[in-house]
Amino acid sequence: MKSDCGNQHSQGGQMAWYQVDEIFPGVYRVEEGGFVAFFLLQGSERSVIIDTGCGLRDVRALARNYLSGDILVVNTHVHPDHSNGNAYFDAISMGRIEWEEHGRKWNGNTHRIHSGDWQPSAIFEGSGFEHLLPSDFDRRAYDLFVARGIPEPVRLWEDGDYIDLGDRQLEVLHTPAHTRGSICLLDRERATMYMGDTLNKSKNWWLHLKCRASPDVIFATYERLEGYADELDYLLPAHGEAILPGHFLRDVAEGMAVIRSGAIRPKEVRNFGGAGYFYDFGAYGPVFAEPVPVET
Ligand SMILES: [Zn+2]
Repeated sequence: MKSDCGNQHSQGGQMAWYQVDEIFPGVYRVEEGGFVAFFLLQGSERSVIIDTGCGLRDVRALARNYLSGDILVVNTHVHPDHSNGNAYFDAISMGRIEWEEHGRKWNGNTHRIHSGDWQPSAIFEGSGFEHLLPSDFDRRAYDLFVARGIPEPVRLWEDGDYIDLGDRQLEVLHTPAHTRGSICLLDRERATMYMGDTLNKSKNWWLHLKCRASPDVIFATYERLEGYADELDYLLPAHGEAILPGHFLRDVAEGMAVIRSGAIRPKEVRNFGGAGYFYDFGAYGPVFAEPVPVET
């Protein structure tokens, strides 16, 4: 993998909002506003964009600077900082459970904006992100744009499916934790996994939102992921540290075991996702909705 500082592409004008790094030949990590990352992958038959960010700029125009051929959006999950850019694209896809449980609900909400009941831009309030917004940010235009909704997916993925880019395959793993329908995407050839928000190395590793999985399901997900710790070189989360080593999956599984043993006492926290219980693994750690029952 190329280093963080190599092959950076500075975007001009409106696109200065994005920082693009070529991390493998034909694979680009896009950092949006220092807040969230998504990925562009050029394949021989088809290109893929893994998540689309907040949609503050024309993400499709950005992607077109790097990708040729048809572009398929694959959402790791549908939280707004990962899918509000979907509206720029024709072909989107996500895990079946994510669409059925969460994605559908985000659609067709324009009436709620006109009634003043909902403001998509409210996601930036209290996020620590608001001061980073571009100076020309037009809140009203953004809200109306986002409210058009997510285009109906052309494909809903199941665990074990392969996404075919021609010369490369991405394997779909259903990883319920942050949301019940989240997926991670495995590129075996490059020993790399795209993590979405299933994990990250920060204090904003959120397992406390309404759409979260139950604790038992969460623990099963991280136990399963630990099985990839030795075969993966790189983990690519959407927040926090940009690139993590594969063995971080073992640290996570071990941390979860410590939580269940009762050896870490959680700290009550409140963030813009709501109240929760933070388990400190040492400068990072997960936030659960409730204190995790200690196993006896
Ligand atoms: Zn999320």
